[in-house]
Amino acid sequence: MSIKVIIAGFKGRMGSTALDMVKGDSDLEVAALLDPFATEKDVDGVPVFNQKEDLVGFDADVWVDFTMPAVAYENTRFALENGFAPVVGTTGFTEEQIIELIALSDEKSLGGLIAPNFAIGAILLMEFAAKASKYFPDLEIIELHHDKKKDAPSGTAIKTAELIREVREHKVQGAADEKELINGARGAEFDGFRIHSVRLPGLVAHQEVIFGAQGEGLTLRHDSYDRVSFMRGVNLGIKEVVKRDQLVYGLEKLL
Ligand code: NAP
Repeated sequence: MSIKVIIAGFKGRMGSTALDMVKGDSDLEVAALLDPFATEKDVDGVPVFNQKEDLVGFDADVWVDFTMPAVAYENTRFALENGFAPVVGTTGFTEEQIIELIALSDEKSLGGLIAPNFAIGAILLMEFAAKASKYFPDLEIIELHHDKKKDAPSGTAIKTAELIREVREHKVQGAADEKELINGARGAEFDGFRIHSVRLPGLVAHQEVIFGAQGEGLTLRHDSYDRVSFMRGVNLGIKEVVKRDQLVYGLEKLL
């Protein structure tokens, strides 16, 4: 039996790539598509919906979400409340929202995945960065994305920072008396280190973590050159969440 998948945000850059991936896998079936401004009623016979409420009672197993930070939380709640295991790539969740959604998934005994990054290389970068921060506590994160991205810093940068915070001995970096001559020059502050967000046309999703110590430096970098890089992780997520009964945060929890 194939896994029936709803794709929310199917007209977007990530959603359309996910639609092609699901269509190309005979173990998966596109059950429904959701986008608030879609004008077509179906795509190759698959029904298109403009509002999520019309999907109440719909027969599907998984809710893939690549929409917008502003609706990600509501969409994920809606999926869990209606029996669809969410696989969410949309970024912009707060820590409290993730905790609430994990509790809701528990209550509903539904699997789910919220992954700020579905690229395997990015997962490895996060793990390597956390490991390195134990020995190199002075670091800065630079994330680089296309100029249509709505949130900053990226979900990947936040997740990387959270993993680093777990192992790095806390310290406030930089000169105690440093002054920003232009607001924001030193980037966003997280647990005493800085995160910088670059937005440029032509970029997809990239991240560097730069470590500095007396007399040596270390730079870790990952590049997603194409949105196809995320699809192996989305595919794995869809196939894993249907076997589980609790939502997890981070693709590494399923690897
Ligand atoms: P995008 O091209 O702007 O696509 C978002 C799509 O969602 C648009 O077609 C938008 O429609 C639609 N949408 C907006 N509100 C919706 C709703 N309530 N229900 C259903 N669809 C809705 O953006 P993108 O580049 O694909 O990125 C989407 C999200 O994925 C972002 O949060 C981004 O940061 C994240 N992302 C995650 C990963 C990962 O690996 N986890 C990788 C890349 C991107 P309109 O344009 O008509 O408003």
